[in-house]
This record gives sequence, structure tokens and C-alpha cells, in this order.
Amino acid sequence: MITKESIENLKSHLDIVDIISQFIELKKSGANFKACCPFHGEETPSFVVSPVKQIYHCFGCGAGGDSIKFVMEYEKLSYPETLEKLASMVNVSLDYDTNFKKIDSSIIVKVNEYYQKLLIHNEEAKSYLKNRGISDFSIEKFEIGYASSSSDTVNFLKTNFLNLADAKEFGIIDTGQNGIYSRFIERITFPIYSINGTIVGFGGRTISGHNAKYINSPQTKLFNKSRLLYGYHLAKETIYKQKTIIVTEGYLDVVMLHQAGFSNAVATLGTALTQEHLPLLRRGEPKVIVAYDGDKAGLNAAYKASLLLSHSQFKGGVVIFSDGQDPADMVNENKIDQLNAMFSNPKPFIDFVIDLVIEKYDLNNPQEKQSALQELNNYLKTLSPILQEEYSSLIARKLNINSQLIQVQHFNHQQISNANLSSIGIDELTIIKTILENPELLDQVKKELTVDMFEIHGNEYNTLLHNPEDQSLVGLMLNDHIIAYSKEGLNNQLTMMLIPYYTKKIQQIKFDENLSFREKAIKTRELQYKLREIKSKKLIIA
Ligand SMILES: [Zn+2]
Repeated sequence: MITKESIENLKSHLDIVDIISQFIELKKSGANFKACCPFHGEETPSFVVSPVKQIYHCFGCGAGGDSIKFVMEYEKLSYPETLEKLASMVNVSLDYDTNFKKIDSSIIVKVNEYYQKLLIHNEEAKSYLKNRGISDFSIEKFEIGYASSSSDTVNFLKTNFLNLADAKEFGIIDTGQNGIYSRFIERITFPIYSINGTIVGFGGRTISGHNAKYINSPQTKLFNKSRLLYGYHLAKETIYKQKTIIVTEGYLDVVMLHQAGFSNAVATLGTALTQEHLPLLRRGEPKVIVAYDGDKAGLNAAYKASLLLSHSQFKGGVVIFSDGQDPADMVNENKIDQLNAMFSNPKPFIDFVIDLVIEKYDLNNPQEKQSALQELNNYLKTLSPILQEEYSSLIARKLNINSQLIQVQHFNHQQISNANLSSIGIDELTIIKTILENPELLDQVKKELTVDMFEIHGNEYNTLLHNPEDQSLVGLMLNDHIIAYSKEGLNNQLTMMLIPYYTKKIQQIKFDENLSFREKAIKTRELQYKLREIKSKKLIIA
């Protein structure tokens, strides 16, 4: 393990502009630097690097962080790998904690070879693969193997003097009540590679009717299920060349699709597509085709993936295999043309989400129609303003309603980069920015200023109060259009916000039917006192 001290030392040698410009071209823009974001496709630069704050932020996709985070995401490296890379870039040496023993990764390679050899001698496993239509070439290409009994694997490790602690670290074995046992028993094995081509774990399919049809290596230091994609190391070249990636649900789908020539197919490792997969999916800027089963679980997974991918501005769409088909079966049945047609015509993510939401509701029932509208409005708000505009008319048509009912426009970090804000919006954001830049003011300000006093940006103020590290606020910090107030300016602005607020409150009390005459008098007097105080500038944030 790298020592804390040397990480701190490394950090002090990092300049974010210097580091990022070694990967992408940065252009000076005011106090900051700009570029087209390397994490999402765009033609006008919304990726900003701040030399003062030593952070980057993308107004388009919300990506952001420091030098370490950038290199980690850009190069798809683990944290220690990133530190090592940065250390060599800036010529700083790292110290390692000597108590930490480096894991010998050759063990998993040896186990993989062992599983492959076992397959050759196991007729049952071989005939299973043959029945599924998997060719010998694919078996070799994907290094498919077979794990026999637990004692076989344990004996193999022992007779080859392999380190059992390392084997456990890699999730090959575990210890239970009766000692060591192997995790993969009577299963077809699929080695899982990291993007840089090293084996990090296995997937296993039972052929003897074990409870779980598929299992994976447990989460280990090297094996993070929600970041890896099965087959990526083999698919990489085609993905870059064809600018398309097919994401399926299963190992066999990947093997069979490659066999049929779709060598840009990958699969998630028995998990849903998550935020953590996105940096890997983003590589090479491919169009993403989510190819899932038409059963309830598959549709639900495709729906979630579409929400995630449309929100993160991925191009591509969904292909659903209905009638119990899956890509592997279709290849086995030689339906290659049909597959080709399906993959070349995916349903765009946003359309898929809209249709699926609408299908859930009975549009003949006004109340259900209202719920559908509400759900779709909420979804629209997560998209960019242009897409909101585009899709609001589609939704209106599908729901057969007036398009005025669709609420386009909602604050998101993309919009604050635009100068076309209302003046109230700017005033409110400027207050928030002033506090962000002078956090010591927060305690005083929050005594006077509550979330409901904001007309437009109450959400952002609420974020500032409860989650000041949030990315959306980083966007505001770097926004050149919004310049923080001086203390005097802040006092003036607060006064201008609070006077109409309290004046309105006093009016409201007059008409409040829940208050007795006496209560109204007391409350009014309180508020009038407060108002006088504010007007006489007793409200001073110092
Ligand atoms: Zn971006």
C-alpha cells in the first residue's frame, strides 16, 4: 500500500492544468481553461478546468473532480494505479507500506489454465457447450473452462505449492466450517478480464443443477462487478472501429454474438448497468445498444439503463428480445440477419422510457393519464433543455394532451452555464456562490435566509445547506457569468430579498382563516418588527 505521506507529497506536486493538458487540449478562457468534455460527446466545450481551485467540472454531463479523479476516469485505472501513473508523470517517487504484501496475480492465471484443461476431459461440460452451439474456436478465444469438485481445485493449489491466502484473495477458494473449499464447483468457467487484459475473476455456470445458475467471483480488491464488462478486452477494437457497443445480460450471449461476427458485444456481470460502468462505456464514444430479454426483469433493467444512459447523454438505444429468445439462442438458430436488423434499429433510450411509462397507465382514465404526465414530466427534467423541447411535443401527442401541460425547463447544471438567466435567478445564484466562496458566512446567512425565500433556486440553496460538496455546486463555483458579492453587496441583496418576503407574509396573515384575531395581531407585530429591522439595515452579515 502507498503511504499516506507520499500520497500527500504527490498531491502537492500536481497541477491540474498541467496534468489534464497531457491528455486533452485545453484553451484559456478567462481565469479558467476549457475543452470539449472527454467524458461525453459534445461539440461546444463545456468542460472547465480551474487552476485556482485545482478542479475540473463539465457543465454538460456533471463529471468533475481533481487531478487524481481525472486520470482515474480518463485512463480507467484503479486508485493505486492512478497514483503510480501520476507519480511517474511528475517524477515523484512513492513509498510503500512494507507490511503490505503484493498479491501474486499469476495464481489466477494458473487456475484459469487448470480449468481450461479440465474442460477437455469433461464430456458433460463439453456437450453442454456444444448443445448451446459454442464452437471450439470460441471456447479457446474466451478461455472457457470447467471447475470440477472442490477437492480437485484445492488439491491443484496445494500440489503446485500455490499460496492459499492469495487464492482466497482472488475469490478462488474460501474457508468454511470444514476448512478450505472452492467457490466454483461443477461449473463452466468464464474468466473475466479487466480492461488492461489481466484476469481478475471468474463467472461460472452450473451444469449439475446447483441452486444458482450463474455465480461470479466475490467482490475483491481487483474484482469490482459494477465497473467491469465481460468480454470488453476482446471487444475493444471493434467498439472503437464501429463506434458501437452491444451490452447484453449474459456470458453466453457475448460468446455467441462474437461467434456470429458481432465482436463488439459485452455483458454486465449479473448486475444492472450502473453509474460506475459509464466511464468504460464512454471509451471511444460508441453508440450503446442495450440488448436485453423481454421478460419483466429484462424490461425493467432496460428501463433503468435507459434512464441512466439518456440522462448521461449517451447515443444509442434498446433492443428487446421477446418470446423467450435471447441473442445466444438466435445465433444458435442461425438467425443472424434478424439479429443484424434488430441491432441496426434500436429504439432510442428516451423513446423507450416514454413508451414504457405510458404502457404502465390506462390513458382512458383521466387520473392515470395525470400520473403518466407527472412521471414523464419528472423524467424530462433530467434531460438537456433541447431534448426537453424536442420530446415534450412527442409526449403531448402520445398522451393526446395540450403540449402546454408539459413542463419544459428546469434548473440543471447545464443551464447555469448559459447567460440567459432571469435576473431573480442570477441574484439567487449569486447569493449561493458568495457563500460557497466564503463558507464562514453560512452560519449567519442561514439564520436569516430560509429555503422558501428563494423563488427559483431553493433547491440549490438546500443543497448548499445540506450537501455543500455536491457537483452541481461545483458547476456554480466555476461559472464565470456569476460573480460573488462583496459583503456589502450580500447585505444589500439579502435586504432586497427579505423586504418583499416579509411584506408578503404580513399580507398573507390577514387572510389566514386558521388564525384567530389575536394570533394574527401577535404574528403581524412580530413580522413588522422584523421588517423594520431589515429596513433599518440591522440585518448585517459581517
Ligand atoms: Zn461532460
